[in-house]
Amino acid sequence: MSQAAAAVPEGGLRKRKSEGRDLTRPAAPEPLPLPVYDNHTHLEFEDGVDRLDPLESLARAAAVGVQGVVQVGTDLETSRWSAQLAASDARVLAAVALHPNEAPRVAELGLLHAQLSEIARLAAQPRVRAIGETGLDFFRTGEDGRDAQIESFEAHIEIAKANGIALQIHDRDAHDEVVATLIRVGAPERTVFHCFSGDARLAKICNDHGWYVSVAGPSTFKNAPVLREAIAVAKPELLLMETDAPFLTPEPYRGRPNAPYLLPYTVRRLAETLERPLDEVCALIAANTERVYGSWQLEPAEATS
Ligand SMILES: [Zn+2]
Repeated sequence: MSQAAAAVPEGGLRKRKSEGRDLTRPAAPEPLPLPVYDNHTHLEFEDGVDRLDPLESLARAAAVGVQGVVQVGTDLETSRWSAQLAASDARVLAAVALHPNEAPRVAELGLLHAQLSEIARLAAQPRVRAIGETGLDFFRTGEDGRDAQIESFEAHIEIAKANGIALQIHDRDAHDEVVATLIRVGAPERTVFHCFSGDARLAKICNDHGWYVSVAGPSTFKNAPVLREAIAVAKPELLLMETDAPFLTPEPYRGRPNAPYLLPYTVRRLAETLERPLDEVCALIAANTERVYGSWQLEPAEATS
């Protein structure tokens, strides 16, 4: 499959709501001294006044030292697309899953088991290196969707373990239940709290279990001292970085369109939080990320499949 064919998912790019935001694209940051990875992004989303297609977005990211991304699916279609893009592009690895807010909707249609089987099938592809994003979201899903969400989360944990790949967790207002589920079902060896939003207590729990803390744009926000304190408590060898683009744009561009090329703003803030030199933090993040997902290098056999 050609790169051009993979550039846009079936049905076109997804759109992020504009909500009266400033939609101009932030300036590129100064390049990082050493390359890092964005371990959670959604390239299928269109946002901003200028269209940034996925391949151009990857090129802009590489120009400032963000050498690779994990492209994350949230439903069957975007999971398939993520796997396709990863199969043809050395800058991309894929994560596949039904999002916790998607699971109750799919369950209501009676399609949860069929769609989970398809996720399991995609998980066997060599450049699909994580199951995600999955987890629990008690903010957007009410009581009535909770059973489906938990069933879906448990099934995703099993798929990650069966394939020996990482798990990327979406945890919104559900810290205790996420931890309880991981302990009950048994967490995969490499478990990542995507866009970590906990406090020092949750960071300590992550340290105890060897779970990864993925740092996103909110860690740069003025009103996030508790989050920064938690990040400082997490073991350095468990830290990862992400944009969750097009959402969660870091300061000084909060609310504007996000993309992987903006990750350096969050990396620089992390270096300040950890009181460590920037180049050291970049090297740390790159090593941690490769430990979780493996190498981004495209094997010749993979490139032709
Ligand atoms: Zn996400």
